[in-house]
Amino acid sequence: MIPAIYFDGRSARRHDVRLSIAGDEVRVEGEGVLRCEPRAAVKVSERLGNAPRVLRFADGAFCEVRDHAALEPALDAAGHRLDWVERLERSWRAALAALLATLAAAVVAYVWLAPAAAELIARDLPPSVARRISDSAMAALDQSVLKPSQLEAPRRAALAARFAALRQADDGSGAPAGAVLVEFRSSPKIGPNAFALPDGRVILLDQLVALAANDDEILGVLAHEAGHVHYRHGMRMLLQGSFVGMAMTAWFGDISSLLAALPTALLETRYSREFESQADDYAARVLQANGIAPAHLADLLERMVAARDKAGGTHKSQPGSYLSSHPPTAERIARLRAASAARAGRP
Ligand SMILES: [Zn+2]
Repeated sequence: MIPAIYFDGRSARRHDVRLSIAGDEVRVEGEGVLRCEPRAAVKVSERLGNAPRVLRFADGAFCEVRDHAALEPALDAAGHRLDWVERLERSWRAALAALLATLAAAVVAYVWLAPAAAELIARDLPPSVARRISDSAMAALDQSVLKPSQLEAPRRAALAARFAALRQADDGSGAPAGAVLVEFRSSPKIGPNAFALPDGRVILLDQLVALAANDDEILGVLAHEAGHVHYRHGMRMLLQGSFVGMAMTAWFGDISSLLAALPTALLETRYSREFESQADDYAARVLQANGIAPAHLADLLERMVAARDKAGGTHKSQPGSYLSSHPPTAERIARLRAASAARAGRP
């Protein structure tokens, strides 16, 4: 006989009882309780340390047993242990389900929460943080791939003045378009390109100026980069990247860094695609507000693709640069041309 406490499952009243397991029968006997149940109809909880084990009946009643030394041999004798394969399988399935749930949560966090958090944080980040990050990025680039611009000072001044004069488009959110400053550099290594830093600096390379057929095309690229600045894309990418890094390390540890890199690589595309379209739309609005056809940006994009193809793909895509971006350039060119056509067709 095993000492136990019986609850009828309806009231909180406890009954001191004695339990016996004989053959196929579980018998509970004590203070006002007498019941016999087939063993198969009684669910026995797993042992967790010294916590009491619970024998649950079909009608919601249950027994708590603290005397493990008495219960276990009785269960063994009744063949309870024969269930172990089933139990193992059950816990294996539970572990797999938990793993899948964790992965699903990670994907949800990555796809929706990290971008949302990054957007919120980027909005309220003190400008000094963006400035410091941009300063160090610029210093690193100046020491490696960037060289001083070879453009004449009056030419640079004229381009910067034309860009400064562009009325900045309102994106409908009422957010002021931050001041965008153009800096000129040269980089035979990167080739015709332009990129924006998180603090609003836009770096325009001589090679892109040389490739452009006219200044409207250059203004198109600068307006696109201003779009990245306006929506704080650079800072958001940085923040998202660091969240993912931190979260993946916390959840999976170091061994899974390869696994962790895979979703990052796959999903990174989504952000770029979204951000590039946003920056293109922003540029189209700025250009149109200034009487410049967005098709000029499409023209230059086409020439950039041709230049890259001619270079045999030796111009490796730079982070945040023009052609490393998604969607595929053909799709972006078509969108910009459609924006121009829609404008031209208006009465
Ligand atoms: Zn871009």
